[in-house]
Amino acid sequence: MSNGIPCPGCLDTRSRVLETRMVVEGLRRRRLCTGCGQRWTTVELSAAAPVPVVAPVAACVASPAERGGPRKQRH
Ligand SMILES: [Zn+2]
Repeated sequence: MSNGIPCPGCLDTRSRVLETRMVVEGLRRRRLCTGCGQRWTTVELSAAAPVPVVAPVAACVASPAERGGPRKQRH
């Protein structure tokens, strides 16, 4: 299964994921290159991590800190 992450050894993108583990930063994967057999680890930052947000009811004023940030809405 291709996932587009090139091997640091031969830059082949056909790597296999040996192990996926949840860490604080996101998802940590151990990968095995099917081309040269190199193993390495990647950490994927998870933007979808559940973050508790407590918003005040009258929060109608847009704060500058929110500008440009990732905005996700679920329905
Ligand atoms: Zn490789």
